[in-house]
Amino acid sequence: MPQKNALYVVATPIGNLSDISLRALEILEKVDVIAAEHPQNSKHLLAKHSIHTKLISLHQHNEAAMCEKISALLASGKNVALVTDAGTPGISDPGAILVKHIRSHDYPVIPIPGATAAVCALSAAGIVNPHFLFYGFLPTKSGLRKRELTALQSHTYTLVFYEAPHRIVESITDMIDIFGSKREITIARELTKLFETFHSGTLESSLSWLQSDANQQKGEFVLLVSGTEIADQSEIDDQAKHTLQCLLSELPLKQAVKLTADITRKNKNALYQLALQLKTTDT
Ligand code: SAM
Repeated sequence: MPQKNALYVVATPIGNLSDISLRALEILEKVDVIAAEHPQNSKHLLAKHSIHTKLISLHQHNEAAMCEKISALLASGKNVALVTDAGTPGISDPGAILVKHIRSHDYPVIPIPGATAAVCALSAAGIVNPHFLFYGFLPTKSGLRKRELTALQSHTYTLVFYEAPHRIVESITDMIDIFGSKREITIARELTKLFETFHSGTLESSLSWLQSDANQQKGEFVLLVSGTEIADQSEIDDQAKHTLQCLLSELPLKQAVKLTADITRKNKNALYQLALQLKTTDT
């Protein structure tokens, strides 16, 4: 039986309706109320598993307002499950505001784990780098998107993005602009669904692949982009490091790196990574 006064954060499938745990089904059946992002969408899943629990609506635009209502339900001894349209609540989805509110009122918040598109994609992509950085959705406007990509440019972890079908081509084009054409990408499309597709290649070849077949631009996407290669810093001698330190104290990071590379003829990428390390140890 679910615990009284508790909020359950329940992961639901990202496509295939069978991808849900036995524990999730039991909780959804036995709680007093399910708060769903779009009750109409959740009805499908609940009907498949013959669950008839009362549904209320909690979405991006009413989440803050619903916090009081849900804590009142918990205060009256009821229990509530939170679900979103697909996957794990709080992951590029509503949930965090409610969870924070309920925790601040000292009611138990209990996660019921399950599908999440990012981890599903990573699990079957064959990427050997064990580190990844989950970003989620990039900004929709190209200028802001490029600014975010620039901030991510020097990360060595695999970068994980969510993207909508109508922006997939634009976003990869911007990635080529900022990361260069040769970085590796895995495009994971329509995971757990009929047209599930994995495509890996350079950013440039993957963009051509997408553009050559409009069908491949449809559906839901996770993009896994390799991080920048760890540059060999062994060639940076004390003289180059000293030059970089001096310039960093006077100039913005990028300018200091560029000038140091020009003056010392050392590898710019290696200097960039060293500059980031120096900045971090400075603060
Ligand atoms: N909470 C979800 C999760 O745990 O993954 C994410 C919800 S977010 C609003 C929806 C985005 O997740 C989609 O635009 C897509 O980028 C990604 N996504 C969700 N389901 C997917 C699927 N079956 N295949 C590929 N990407 C998916």
